[in-house]
Amino acid sequence: MNQLIHCITCDTLFLKTPFDQEPEYDHTAPLPFVSTQPIERDDFEDFMKDHHGHRMEDLTILEDSFVSEKDYAEPVKVSYFRATNGKENFVVRKFRERIGDPLRYELIAGDYSLTCVSLDVQAREIEKQMVREFTEHPLSRNKIDSFVRLYGHIIKTVEVKNLERVPEESSNPLAVYYKMDDVTLMYLLRNCHHIFQGQEYSDVEKFIGSHKDDGVLLLKATYKIQVLERRKVEKKIVSSTPALERKKVKEIG
Ligand SMILES: [Zn+2]
Repeated sequence: MNQLIHCITCDTLFLKTPFDQEPEYDHTAPLPFVSTQPIERDDFEDFMKDHHGHRMEDLTILEDSFVSEKDYAEPVKVSYFRATNGKENFVVRKFRERIGDPLRYELIAGDYSLTCVSLDVQAREIEKQMVREFTEHPLSRNKIDSFVRLYGHIIKTVEVKNLERVPEESSNPLAVYYKMDDVTLMYLLRNCHHIFQGQEYSDVEKFIGSHKDDGVLLLKATYKIQVLERRKVEKKIVSSTPALERKKVKEIG
């Protein structure tokens, strides 16, 4: 069980994981694992020594609140998760500057939100898939372009909140895939008549049917993490009216 400790005096965080008291292995050497040299350490003890006599509090980490801005496999990135001391909510910013650096944790009073910044068709993937599949009666470059443009045009009015999310494995936590809705499907099929006729139309109709639920016709939504920081109220300033909490929006690219 992870334990998050906040030194209020220094405004510093320490995340106590079950691994902290285990020796850290030097991963610079590849296999065999047995030959790596453990480095003895106890980070928790060091933290408690450094902050002896300070005001401390335990924070509870909110489950399923982890988000990060880069691929899961990327070691150098910024991640966020929510934590609370029971009275106030916080966002913890977890990061490291270089690959060899230890992870650092910064406490931000406030919350974060995820905002959808774009919804797109997977243009390149659709093009490639159409070329790959239509071998018997290849579609012209122009017609493929027209199809991609048509699909992109139709989804301009689609709202992501009305779409069904696909449990597709995405390597990026801020890229989420959705199925097109029935209205979009209907418009797409109907308007395809302007581009394709006869056999071509039947082939394209089949193509749409086979890729709409889990293939290249899924829509890709890109999200952005926005951290909303509560401005720290100066304790010296005593107001007769309850101070309104001003929110500062910090944008993270
Ligand atoms: Zn301290």
